Amino acid sequence: MALLQISEPGMSTAPHQHRLAVGIDLGTTNSLVATVRSGSPEVLSDENGRSLLPSIVRYLPNGHANIGYKAHAHRTTDPKNTIVSVKRFMGRGLKDIAHVENLPYDFVDGGREGGHGMVQIRTVAGVKSPVEVSAQILATLRQRAEDSLGDELVGAVITVPAYFDDAQRQATKDAAQLAGLNVLRLLSEPTAAAIAYGLDHAKEGVYAVYDLGGGTFDISILKLSKGVFEVLSTGGDSALGGDDFDQRLFCYITEQAKLAPLSEEDTATLMVKARQAKELLSTNDETTVEAILKSGEIVQVTVSAETFTEITKHLVVKTMNAIRKAMRDANVSVEDVDGVVMVGGATRMPQVRRAVSEFFKTIPHANIDPDRVVALGAAIQANLLAGNRAPGDDWLLLDVTPLSLGIETMGGLVEKIIPRNSTIPVARAQEFTTFKDGQTAMAIHVVQGERELVSDSRSLARFELRGIPPMAAGAARIRVTYQVDADGLLSVSAREARSGVEASITVKPSYGLGDDEIARMLQESYTSAQGDMQMRALREEQVEAERILLATQSALGEDKDLLSGEEQGAIAKLMDDVREAVARSNDQSQDTGARQDVLHNAVQALARGTEEFAARRMDKSVRKALAGKSLDQV
Ligand code: AMP
Repeated sequence: MALLQISEPGMSTAPHQHRLAVGIDLGTTNSLVATVRSGSPEVLSDENGRSLLPSIVRYLPNGHANIGYKAHAHRTTDPKNTIVSVKRFMGRGLKDIAHVENLPYDFVDGGREGGHGMVQIRTVAGVKSPVEVSAQILATLRQRAEDSLGDELVGAVITVPAYFDDAQRQATKDAAQLAGLNVLRLLSEPTAAAIAYGLDHAKEGVYAVYDLGGGTFDISILKLSKGVFEVLSTGGDSALGGDDFDQRLFCYITEQAKLAPLSEEDTATLMVKARQAKELLSTNDETTVEAILKSGEIVQVTVSAETFTEITKHLVVKTMNAIRKAMRDANVSVEDVDGVVMVGGATRMPQVRRAVSEFFKTIPHANIDPDRVVALGAAIQANLLAGNRAPGDDWLLLDVTPLSLGIETMGGLVEKIIPRNSTIPVARAQEFTTFKDGQTAMAIHVVQGERELVSDSRSLARFELRGIPPMAAGAARIRVTYQVDADGLLSVSAREARSGVEASITVKPSYGLGDDEIARMLQESYTSAQGDMQMRALREEQVEAERILLATQSALGEDKDLLSGEEQGAIAKLMDDVREAVARSNDQSQDTGARQDVLHNAVQALARGTEEFAARRMDKSVRKALAGKSLDQV
């Protein structure tokens, strides 16, 4: 008979009770769940002993869904209702996925409101969002974990590609919540792999994580020092993966077999065959693709490993280019890299391993199953976060922000608050003030990017701080704090010091930001750096001109009588000169530097011309303050 353990109310049942936590790799092609048991991480299998769960959901007319292998079997017979690679649509709008070819789905534009801009898919069971589809996969993994571990989970660490932006991360969190999971943390996939490889026990130095999955490519440059990992930079391509190799092979097969345009069903059949052939070519010198089309036509094409390498060379080169960029960002050279980790099923392709090996002049670490390594790392992290900390487990992993986060300031300029590649979580604050006398509200515009002007940056959010007590321009102190949490989500708050009025926003941009766009924004910032700086200087001068005009106007309104008619005329003339210089400073046919000089001179002339007036006003206010007081009272 088993003994029942009892405990006092409020007491823990066992001092060493293990809190059940799992790591989930929510992959494009396959998903896995892992946990730490008896001190070592292991992937949990389903009742048939299979560890991978195909990330596929098939919707049925009765509203139910098949998930994983059951759904996989129908991807060719019921492609419209069988959702594969849903990760590509997470947090994405219709236009973001327009470039993905051969998608058999009936897409519905989510619109900016109800659907948060995220694309939706019409199925026989109704319109489904990528969040709902992913939640089905996560719920299946949660059930699997609870069945194998025999209890409820404390929480889960879920991995996301390093390049996932706020919208994509939030969509992943929403999916987890819908699946009844408590998210301990979202962790980037390369970071999880570094944990699985126990790189914290390796020699201090720089490591690269090359992750080529089904639909995404991530490269991360990590630095290990004193047992702490820091992600120096990340890069990659969120629209490049093993699926693109399938696509290339599919095109090759249709060309070789001289096939007419195919039906959706035949396309799906041939895509599956192409993927099988690709995987076989990782261990065979050649393979023959055989298929019977709906029309009865027989397809038979032999592909050699050499041909496959040749037709996919440009895809491998694309990954090398992304590595170069990430290394430049991290300011490291090939010689600085002490080791390379291979992650993702597609790194089984020998041409990929060869290219990485040649690039880094070292044999990459690939001894852990590349399909499991991310889930295993996530499980180790989950175990730690759940409080099951083992002695010696004192490392920390840090992610970085892909682009700078800034705020719009006067003149349409960007003030960067959190620079790009800052390790997260991170919080930075900066003080701002009011521009006009009596100003009671301030508009906060949160932007992302490397450029100097708001018009060249990506707008993330806008909100207003209201209720600022009326004060003279420049007297209010408004502290704006930017905070990026461990999951990469940004919160911005603004607080006026005197009154304590506060406003805040959490940024969940509706549309995703692909790494192509990130790359484009970075490229533009490099090529436009000098022009941007000149433009910034001009805008700053325009703001200063505006400020001095307002201040002079307000001083004249109050104390005109301190000036003679002649003096008033002289100041009015100087103000007119500034106004004219401001108008001329917008004439784009002129050189930016020259426009700034003219404006600067006019502003300086007005500043000098009002010095005496300012001194008289000062005297007047001092006299007023002292009126009726004896010397010993002041
Ligand atoms: P992941 O997203 O990490 O699960 O990677 C899935 C991708 O790895 C898919 O494109 C698979 O076709 C690919 N893959 C899996 N096994 C192999 C293999 N033996 N050779 C080449 N690619 C593979």
